[in-house]
Amino acid sequence: MFYEDLSEYTYQEEDAFTDRESGFHALWYRPAYTRLNIGWLEVGRPYPLGTVPEAFTERLRAVQDVQRMNVCLGTHECDLCPEGEAPEGNGEVRIPGAPGIAYAAPFLVTHYVTAHGYRPPQVFVDAVLAVDLGAWASVRWPDVPFPWVPDDVERLAE
Ligand SMILES: [Zn+2]
Repeated sequence: MFYEDLSEYTYQEEDAFTDRESGFHALWYRPAYTRLNIGWLEVGRPYPLGTVPEAFTERLRAVQDVQRMNVCLGTHECDLCPEGEAPEGNGEVRIPGAPGIAYAAPFLVTHYVTAHGYRPPQVFVDAVLAVDLGAWASVRWPDVPFPWVPDDVERLAE
């Protein structure tokens, strides 16, 4: 699956965050924010190369440790890797950007950066570095302060 960086994300109509402890959907809604694609790479499609700050990669990994996002939609295999050695990723990542904007990346985005030299747009690097990880890691997903979630969304808590 290939999408141009910063094009509008239209892959799934709804965004679903899964509580990492119970495995149930904690938030499931039609986003009121605009989603912009980041890092949907595919073999044969050129992508930007370059280095990123180490702090960016670390923060992105840490986000992926606490955020489970669109995980029920099947796994994707990295098709830039040789067959048989390709890691799989399950789900996506959402990173809040400017007001009303969230970046939508595949779970494998960190692998693309570390293994394939992918250089995401600077706005995404800045947005990842701006994530308040303490707030995300200290509560479970029904209560996580992801911005611009519609008010009438059903919050499934136990
Ligand atoms: Zn790969």
